[in-house]
Amino acid sequence: MRKRYVLGIDLGGTNIRGAAVGAKGGILARLTLPTDSSKGRERVLENLSRVIKALSRKFSSKEFDLLGVGIGAAGGIQQREGIISQSPNIPQLDGFNLREHLEKKHGFPFFLENDANCGALGERWVGAGKGVNDLGLITLGTGVGGGIILEGKLWQGIDGTAGEVGHMTVNSEGPECRCGSRGCLEVYSSATAIVRRLKEEVSRGEKTQLVGKQGKRLDRVTSRDIHQAALAGDRLSRRLLREMGRYLGIGIANLINLLNLELVILGGGVAEAWEFFVPTLKKEVQQRAFRVPARRVKVLRSRLGANAGFLGAASLAWQRATEERGYEG
Ligand SMILES: [Zn+2]
Repeated sequence: MRKRYVLGIDLGGTNIRGAAVGAKGGILARLTLPTDSSKGRERVLENLSRVIKALSRKFSSKEFDLLGVGIGAAGGIQQREGIISQSPNIPQLDGFNLREHLEKKHGFPFFLENDANCGALGERWVGAGKGVNDLGLITLGTGVGGGIILEGKLWQGIDGTAGEVGHMTVNSEGPECRCGSRGCLEVYSSATAIVRRLKEEVSRGEKTQLVGKQGKRLDRVTSRDIHQAALAGDRLSRRLLREMGRYLGIGIANLINLLNLELVILGGGVAEAWEFFVPTLKKEVQQRAFRVPARRVKVLRSRLGANAGFLGAASLAWQRATEERGYEG
């Protein structure tokens, strides 16, 4: 029998990460190319096709059988239609029928899903959520993404837009969010939010070793710098990370009261500052959530990191392609 495999692709704003993946989640080959999203839609599509071609050609002999390609991308994904909408990273693809375009060009079945949803699928398949049926993944990056798996299945909602944990309101009077609402978790717990909070505090006269004579220009500070400063003992940076953890804890308390999740996985760059925000996060969860789900829930760091997206996209392709072909994956 021919050896079956799929491609999993994480179509990000900066990079396209792709891999050929076996039935048990083993990575057979991988390739990362820049997205070049500033160079327009045609360039993005070209780069995407280069990744697909290069990975599928590696296994083009008669011994291998490519079942399908899973793609995770930021934004609202209309799975049935194959359309990406409101993509914050690649606005050039807004409203574009990506699936139709790719299927015509390459001749394989394609499956699209939101990137954080793919992350949740990936962590459940071969990462921190292996064997867990009720889990949430929260990615703390430029924005705050979310994916929820209930009873072993990705929870998509009627339009496929479910799981936007980053846009639950945690403070009704909070700052405006890019989604049009205000006080969303994203405006408190993303990398962007932490940097914004630092700027606010410095402009109010708060002191930090990060900026000034030995430090950086305020407009160059990143969330990673804030984490580094916290490690070096900077009080303001530590306070901002505690504050970020507090809002994240409020969000997680809401989530587990609603869904009684067994596990919440935290990924994305800001999760690196774990030791500084997890104590306040846990305190909020214990204070706000019902006792039984609060005691039960585990909060863990992502195990797959930047690989979660393409591995989850691959697991989606395995699942859907084998369903369509009518045999076991
Ligand atoms: Zn929002």
